[in-house]
Amino acid sequence: MEFKESILIKLVVMLQCLTLVLCASQDFLTMMCGTYIIEVWPGSYCDTQQSCCYPTSGKPDADFGIHGLWPNYNDGSYPSNCDSSNPFQQSQVSNLISTMQKEWPTLACPSGNGIQFWSHEWDKHGTCSESLLNQHDYFEAALNLKQKANLLQALTSAGINPDGGFYSLSSIKNAISDSIGFTPFIECNSDSSGNSQLYQVYLCVDTNASSFIDCPVFPHGKCASNIEFSSF
Ligand code: 5GP
Ligand code: 5GP
Repeated sequence: MEFKESILIKLVVMLQCLTLVLCASQDFLTMMCGTYIIEVWPGSYCDTQQSCCYPTSGKPDADFGIHGLWPNYNDGSYPSNCDSSNPFQQSQVSNLISTMQKEWPTLACPSGNGIQFWSHEWDKHGTCSESLLNQHDYFEAALNLKQKANLLQALTSAGINPDGGFYSLSSIKNAISDSIGFTPFIECNSDSSGNSQLYQVYLCVDTNASSFIDCPVFPHGKCASNIEFSSF
């Protein structure tokens, strides 16, 4: 019995070491350590002290927008800017641009057409999983994931509406878990009066960014127990 237990303990330790070694090597294996899809509530990007600028294509829909698809290590750290020889090229995603304008709008100032935002996300994060997802597949995977998880519908069907009202953090998490089947991480920021509000939603996805999984590790950060769902 004791012998079996000690073998089991050794096996577990070996597995943990293996995971660490694998996670330490870049690219393909980083994806195995988890990837987040991050969606942003535009109302909460815009109502801070910093405010925002609508894209050149006009005011985006009152819906969550994609921020990025970010490979992460299991210890919470992450690789970034993994391949400067493979910069974002608009020609690789030409068939996705109109969908990206709608689903992945830029809100930074000054107003832009999105290229700067998408380039940044590809160069900083996308290149770290380029052997699994090329530029086209990276953006397409994020768009497909957003479509699969209709966050706004998950919330509104639970009576949680972007009306400037306050809702419990747990009711927001539950509404999303009930609809998608996986617990999200909620990131809050502060509106211009200092109220804690729903800002970004993180969901974890599998190695090829095709389905949601339980998060191996959650980011850090805190929200108030009741948070605002700002209007947009
Ligand atoms: P902030 O410091 O504003 O939370 O994040 C700044 C930027 O750092 C993010 O937009 C993102 O590019 C990167 N970042 C922050 N936290 C994480 C994380 O947990 N994982 C990854 N992959 N990137 C992150
Ligand atoms: P991250 O926070 O993802 O590391 O950095 C995002 C970068 O993309 C920033 O340098 C920012 O100027 C640019 N950017 C352009 N549009 C947006 C936007 O709508 N949201 C955010 N977070 N960044 C944007």
